[in-house]
Amino acid sequence: MSPRRCSPVSSSAVPVAGPEHVWSVTEHLEDILGTVRPLEPIELQLLDAQGCVLVEDITVPLSLPPFDNSSMDGYAVRAADIVGASEEFPAVLTVIGDVAAGRSGELRVGPGQAARIMTGAPLPPGAEAVVPVEWTDGGLGGGPVSGMRAHSAAPEGASGQVHVHRAAEAGAHVRTRGSDCRAGDRALDAGAVVGAPQIALLAAIGLGTVRVRPRPRVVVISTGSELVQPGEPLDDGEIYDSNSFALTAAVRAAGAIAYRVGAVADDAETLRATIEDQLVRADMVVTTGGVSVGAYDVVKEALSHVGDEDEAGSGIEFRKLAMQPGKPQGFGSIGPDHTPLLALPGNPVSSYVSFELFVRPAIRTLMGLPDVHRPTTRAVLRTDKALTSPAGRRQFLRGRHSPADGTVSPVGASGSHLVAALAHADALIVVPEDDTSVEPGTEVEVVLLG
Ligand code: AMP
Ligand code: MG
Repeated sequence: MSPRRCSPVSSSAVPVAGPEHVWSVTEHLEDILGTVRPLEPIELQLLDAQGCVLVEDITVPLSLPPFDNSSMDGYAVRAADIVGASEEFPAVLTVIGDVAAGRSGELRVGPGQAARIMTGAPLPPGAEAVVPVEWTDGGLGGGPVSGMRAHSAAPEGASGQVHVHRAAEAGAHVRTRGSDCRAGDRALDAGAVVGAPQIALLAAIGLGTVRVRPRPRVVVISTGSELVQPGEPLDDGEIYDSNSFALTAAVRAAGAIAYRVGAVADDAETLRATIEDQLVRADMVVTTGGVSVGAYDVVKEALSHVGDEDEAGSGIEFRKLAMQPGKPQGFGSIGPDHTPLLALPGNPVSSYVSFELFVRPAIRTLMGLPDVHRPTTRAVLRTDKALTSPAGRRQFLRGRHSPADGTVSPVGASGSHLVAALAHADALIVVPEDDTSVEPGTEVEVVLLG
């Protein structure tokens, strides 16, 4: 991970920022994404690679299917023996035994013969087609076979003869070798995301492991001496810690591994020690609270000590963003590995919105995913009265999007403590910096939270 100051984006697109500079949402995001680099690839077991990005092309080592096999339960036959077969004039064949899935052939189907065959079983030599059992009398047409060479343990249900009522061409109900994919074909391209269907293919061609970018390990720390773990009793002046839970869940939903450290009291030394302890298992650190200008803004106090750049080349910068909610933000890298750290504001809505806008794209960049952003759409604002928004700040209001009629309705007010309304939202309504009010019926940009 290169230090933030080497970022091409922060050095070109982003103006040199003094402490008074108010960062736009776009500048802050570009700074983050210009800094964070995809994690080094590792070899993972198939299921551990779920949701990860392949870093190399996968070549098919083995044709699928690996052998000609039956797509039906029925009888393997020679096509010439059933030409013109009908209900009235069935072809009568001698059943020479069974072929089950997982067995390989000793049976050979000669003229006038049939082998009872199961779905997935190899087509025995001599046979050219499979007649589904529904096209036959099911082998009830004669007495037991004498001297039958049973291929499976017991030719249970097999009889001496089978009457076939319909003709079939050579190749009928046969899945030929390599008809799915052939050895040497490209199975998957580098950059593909490993989902369930891709895992199906990788397993089918026999790969036990794949090289992917790993899931980032994201440490989530909330700060505040007022915070109590849910489930514990609450004293006067205390509240439950919701941020560390919300963000841990959001980290997981973004595809990463979350380590929830929970709430750290407002003490700079404790916080510094906690972060230092966590660095060993962190590809990214996310903190909440303590980033504004109050007396107990502990994150700022603890991490400002590292200054613009400490001996390890790390630095966290605290900024004001032209955004609501989420005005105070910290970003930089920390420790010997320059681990990215995002310090989010403490109000629950602010921290969640900040996560969606900045942390989630950063996590997905670490994963090397092609799509790092939430999808956006445009929708017609459905509300009784105009929305108001502060001048010069991009506002993100919670909303419910209705794809059926292309509308979005605000949920709750704009207060950044309104966590109940957040729980009913599935979208963010974006009000640009220059707009101070939005009339009902106006088309607005909407971030879909999925
Ligand atoms: P701060 O940014 O630390 O000044 O916190 C701003 C507001 O958010 C305060 O009302 C805090 O009590 C509240 N807050 C901070 N952290 C959390 C948290 N983890 N869960 C719920 N509320 C929080
Ligand atoms: Mg606080």
